Order: sequence, then structure tokens, then C-alpha cells
Amino acid sequence: MFLKIDHIGIAVRSIASSARVYSGRIGMPFGAIETLPAEGIRVGFLGRGETRLELLEPIEENGTVARFLSKRGEGFHHLCLAVEDIEAALSALEGAGVRTVGEAPRSGAGGSRIAFLNPKDTGGVLIELSESPAQGEKIEPGQTVLVYLCEPKERFWEVLRDIAPHGITVEGIDLSSFDSWTSSAVNGDRDAHATTALFPSHRIERILLDRPSGEAESLEERFRSRVGTSLASFLDRNR
Ligand code: ZN
Repeated sequence: MFLKIDHIGIAVRSIASSARVYSGRIGMPFGAIETLPAEGIRVGFLGRGETRLELLEPIEENGTVARFLSKRGEGFHHLCLAVEDIEAALSALEGAGVRTVGEAPRSGAGGSRIAFLNPKDTGGVLIELSESPAQGEKIEPGQTVLVYLCEPKERFWEVLRDIAPHGITVEGIDLSSFDSWTSSAVNGDRDAHATTALFPSHRIERILLDRPSGEAESLEERFRSRVGTSLASFLDRNR
């Protein structure tokens, strides 16, 4: 059931200022940022190895992380264990008398499925179980991604240039203009310029890799079949 320690969760008041310690002073690379509205938090991941650090910042006053911070202050929050099959793990644990907290399983960061175990049954440590998505691939600069923003809701198709605690730098287009923009790109139109933007972390709801899903091809595939190149090389060529 157990695969590895996936990450260590640290409750923080601000991802941006804590990242200055973990990333700036200690030197852990900043890897990803995501908002989990159902959990009332925003998370930032540091490190690129087997085990990462997850900074949890509350975005709601009454969420569990906000309450944790007001009771205990910043610091260690939970240990996350990667499991192969979360349902199997949960039923084995249930058989052993280990209870869960909250809905189990539910959706976690990066498309994972997660569950939390009751610390009363696990020696006082809050343990999270996490099953990675089947085609789990890490999102890194250089990849083509779909970015979902909130306040207001917007969607973009972008090449990811940089991920930092304060936000992400991307180059691409508003998703609603995909068809017209692709047509201009086909015609070698000078207007087919993409925009480089910095999206602040508080607006990032989700970043997804631009991948085919089921029968539907990815936007990258649609773009490539019409323009003959990937978005990244198209942007490099038109610089
Ligand atoms: Zn976690």
C-alpha cells in the first residue's frame, strides 16, 4: 500500500513570505502553485525530488488551515504518504480501526486523490494519503498548459515560462481566441503575437498540462495540425 513519503505539509500565513525562507535561504526550488477552493487553501510545492514540501496558505478565515494557524501558529501540519490504490488503502485502514477526517477520498492538488486519517488513530500525526493521477506528469517551465484564473474567471492557453511563489509567467493567448488566433498564425499574420503575462498566485485556480483527453485531441495537437509546429516553437520563431 505504502509507496513513499510524497510530501510534508507546512501551514503558513503566506506562501510568498515562507518561500523566501525555503527557496531563497535554503535553496529549495519552487515547483507549483494551486488553489483548492474546497479545502479553503492555496498550496505551493517546493523541491523536485522524491519528497516535496507543501506550503498551505489559508484563503478562508474558517477553513481547517486557518483554524490550525490561529491555534498553533505556523509549522508542521501533516505528512503525506503516496499509495497506489487509495480505495484499497482506506478499506485496509478501516479494517484496522483507523478513522478518516472529512470526505475520503476527495480531490487534492495536481489531480491527485487524497484522504486524511484521524490523528487520534495515528499517534498524534495528521497523515494524508495520496494517489497520483494515472498519467501524472509534472508541470514544468517550457510545457504547454491551460491556466484557469479566478476573480474574474478567465482561461488561457500558454507556454509556461516560470513558476514562482508570487505567480507564474506565461506566454500565450486567451483560450476564447484560440480559433481566430490559430487562423492568423496559419496566414503568417503579424497580429499572431502572443502576450507574455505574470499571473499572480492568488488568481491561479488550476494549471493543467495541455493533453488529449479520451477522444478529444489537445489544443497543441489542433494547433500543430493547422500550423505545423508546436506553440513553443511558433513563439520562438516569431520573437
Ligand atoms: Zn498535503
